[in-house]
Amino acid sequence: MSEFDYDLFVIGAGSGGVRASRIAASHGARVAVAEEHRVGGTCVIRGCVPKKLLVYGAHFAEDIHDARKFGWEVADCKFNWDVLRDNVLAEVDRLEGLYGQTLDSHKVTVFKTRATLIGPQKVRLADGQEISAERILIATGGWPFVPEFPGSEHAITSNEVFHLDKLPKRVVIAGGGYIANEFAGIFNEFGSKVTIVNRGDTILRGYDEQIRDRLLQISMTKGIDFKFNAPFQSIEKNDDGTLTVHLENCDAITADAVLIATGRTPNTKGLGLEDVGVELDAHGAIKVDETNQSSVPSIYAVGDVTNRIQLTPVAIREGQAFADSVFGGKPTVVDYTNVPSAVFSHPPIGAVGMTEAEARNKLGSIRTYTSDFRAMKNVLAGRNERALYKMIVNAATDQVVGLHMIGPDAPEILQAAAIAVKAGLTKADFDATVALHPSMAEELVLLK
Ligand code: NDP
Repeated sequence: MSEFDYDLFVIGAGSGGVRASRIAASHGARVAVAEEHRVGGTCVIRGCVPKKLLVYGAHFAEDIHDARKFGWEVADCKFNWDVLRDNVLAEVDRLEGLYGQTLDSHKVTVFKTRATLIGPQKVRLADGQEISAERILIATGGWPFVPEFPGSEHAITSNEVFHLDKLPKRVVIAGGGYIANEFAGIFNEFGSKVTIVNRGDTILRGYDEQIRDRLLQISMTKGIDFKFNAPFQSIEKNDDGTLTVHLENCDAITADAVLIATGRTPNTKGLGLEDVGVELDAHGAIKVDETNQSSVPSIYAVGDVTNRIQLTPVAIREGQAFADSVFGGKPTVVDYTNVPSAVFSHPPIGAVGMTEAEARNKLGSIRTYTSDFRAMKNVLAGRNERALYKMIVNAATDQVVGLHMIGPDAPEILQAAAIAVKAGLTKADFDATVALHPSMAEELVLLK
């Protein structure tokens, strides 16, 4: 008999924690997981999944409009936020149930409560119960970061945005990253007046400059306003319930809702980590080595709480690698090169590998290829919106080291093309592939 209650105790049942729990259990470990919010974590409950459903819902605005050019007689349509919101939240409930079932079927014990560390191999639940485990995995994810300024309590974050009672007529969104651009697109398609307010003059830092410029240009054409170099000073709540946002270097803006999307911080506060000797970095993230082990040998961490790459599929890989390495006798290290990513803006962006600027810095001699085109469907619809595909090639080896795309279905196309980039294929390999006509993706093998 083991001297511990469990072989593994996981804190946090999000993407990384659920994967690690289920795989460790399938390797024969006795596993428990504690979750203080809802099983599924950010991605399923208040992130990727409900967001993508809203993106689908929003895009109908353009599809219904364009359908007329394709011969459909479309009567004036009205969008009903309550219906979409409730359907999305019901889908989230369904998925939460499925995640719970997966844990049950793998015989993982679920404690629907907060757990904190009281020793390198011991946790305490909110009701005072103490549980020992040979190993502990921290998978508590991240939490929206809200800068400090007067009136910040009047704003919402991505946690609340899915639950809005009614659609705001005017929305101010702080930040220029993923969430800001995705929700700007969503609200704008639903007919809200959207203003993105950014502290700097760059949106989507880390993405290729040409692609970012294209999104900015298309977003502005669609009616989204951008205020750059305009940090928030305060939010004032007016008697009629509206909010006035005061900004540096810019006139005040009055809106019905203010969404703060200025990044996410690792969820490490109050977990007792420092007390048991787990080292955190300057941002509060748990420092781990390539095996996901913290400075305390019995304590590991995966996912956003480690602030490596804040993406669900990365957290899942880390959870899998941890469980396979520690409980499956299969040492696995996650490879962080060429991780594809997407922004579900209108239109969406997909990217993998180096941007042009990164490639110039790292490789020196590169070739770039671009295709700047209007998708066939947009041409017939009379929609003046151009897609842009960009390929970065190492001039010395002909290897494709980066692919960047903005346009309809870019993330779907990019996911498949990312295999070629990950596999180290060359421009000649792309050229040797016969085009699939007519498609947008064929541009990738026709770049000149
Ligand atoms: P991002 O990191 O994408 O963007 C944060 C934005 O806020 C940047 O424009 C940044 O400006 C700005 N900012 C940061 N700190 C401050 C501050 N103190 N005051 C004012 N502005 C500030 O964060 P998001 O919140 O949009 O998303 C969080 C994370 O969630 C993302 O990094 C991503 O990993 C993940 N995510 C992924 C999605 C996807 O895969 N499609 C979708 C949504 C989220 P600056 O550039 O100057 O630093």
